[in-house]
Amino acid sequence: MTQTAASVQDMAHHLHPFSDNKQLKESGVRVIEKADGIYIYDNQGNKIIDGMAGLWCVNIGYGRKELGDIAKNQMDELAYYNTFFKTSHPAVINLSAKLAEVAPAGFNHVFYTGSGSESVDSMMRMVRHYWASVGKPSKTILIGRWNGYHGSTIGGASMGGMKGMHAQGGLPIPGIEHIEQPWYYGLHNEGETPEEFGLRAANWLEERIIEVGADNVAAFVGEPIQGAGGVIIPPSTYWPRIQEICQKYNILLVADEVICGFGRTGSWFGHETLGFKPDIFTTAKGLSSGYLPIGAVFVGDKVVEGILQGGEFNHGFTYAGHPVSAAVALKNVQILQDEKIIQNVHDVTGPYMQQKWREMLAQFKYVDDVRGVGLIQGFTLVKNKATREMFPNEGETGTALRDIFFRNNLIMRACGDHIVASPPLTITKEEIDLMLATAEKCIQEFEANMDAKLGA
Ligand code: PMP
Repeated sequence: MTQTAASVQDMAHHLHPFSDNKQLKESGVRVIEKADGIYIYDNQGNKIIDGMAGLWCVNIGYGRKELGDIAKNQMDELAYYNTFFKTSHPAVINLSAKLAEVAPAGFNHVFYTGSGSESVDSMMRMVRHYWASVGKPSKTILIGRWNGYHGSTIGGASMGGMKGMHAQGGLPIPGIEHIEQPWYYGLHNEGETPEEFGLRAANWLEERIIEVGADNVAAFVGEPIQGAGGVIIPPSTYWPRIQEICQKYNILLVADEVICGFGRTGSWFGHETLGFKPDIFTTAKGLSSGYLPIGAVFVGDKVVEGILQGGEFNHGFTYAGHPVSAAVALKNVQILQDEKIIQNVHDVTGPYMQQKWREMLAQFKYVDDVRGVGLIQGFTLVKNKATREMFPNEGETGTALRDIFFRNNLIMRACGDHIVASPPLTITKEEIDLMLATAEKCIQEFEANMDAKLGA
């Protein structure tokens, strides 16, 4: 990559998140200046396909001017006010009513935050507050999963099961347990069907509840589909069995919908696609399509009733329900609704993209476990498909392919050696064809490099 003046200046003063900043100072950064639809443009005139919708968030695509107009009007009218001390404002009132409308039955309240991590932290404190409020204060333990991702705050990073994150700064905090992820490809026994594996994986939750005592467990927390973990989609039997276990032991079931929410899987929310009913679900990203920061915790009626018994919930953020973010989020949700974008993902572009990826990837010998639903998609790079042997130094091979995509003006992401895509929900069939044609050339180059390296 050629270093531009802007890149040099960036590196002089800016520490990047989730980056090796020493390495970055040598390689430089690509400076993105504008965006439109599914494309982003850098300062060297490159037009780049954004196969990741930013960080899985730009659901309505880039460049929708109406959102800017709404933001400007709201800033002129009421740029800021809080919702702490017996006040509210029209933007947050209108957004809350709209969210209750698009949420499944039984979700009539939302609690606002500024991000996905804040939604997760709020949920963690809220479920404990709920149990204390209904007279069961011992129920405090939260159970998550290895390779789950729930954010970067101390709470969110602890709730998540990313070992690399836990390795820095003494995480997880106490009171959090992790069970193994429902990853069929990597963890099933010989001869075990996906359905059998799904039940076995769900039963790991029951085993852990028994181990720590149901009277101590507040909630089980999981992404309907693990996103940053590499688009790990559990078998169909998994979530229904998880729900059964939570009911049996009187434990709250929490879906982290920060990626899956607002249409990614072809339904409004991922738990609708995966077939289960959480008590609470956390959102951010697609709520505003990333145009402004905002998150929301959707709180089911049972939990609301409990909390109402508990007096003041001593928790909240200055920017909770920020008027400008709320106004923009409302317009974003209206666009998703009015333009039937989620319906189109469900009926047209989702099935099309899934089929095309499967057809295209079938030719490759280091690509396996092609999976996806709606407009979230993943596959895994493996050394040997017959034995499912992974490449050594997890992440090295994935990054090598990601870099080829990047050089060819296609943004895809490597989560370890899982390669994932999550384009804007407005992507057309023609744009899917273009994205896949680019990806195909890149994977051909990657396989040739790999053959040379392995002497195959
Ligand atoms: N939960 C999930 C499932 C996520 O994917 C993410 C972000 N990728 C988060 C929480 C954290 O969101 P944020 O980065 O907005 O804090």
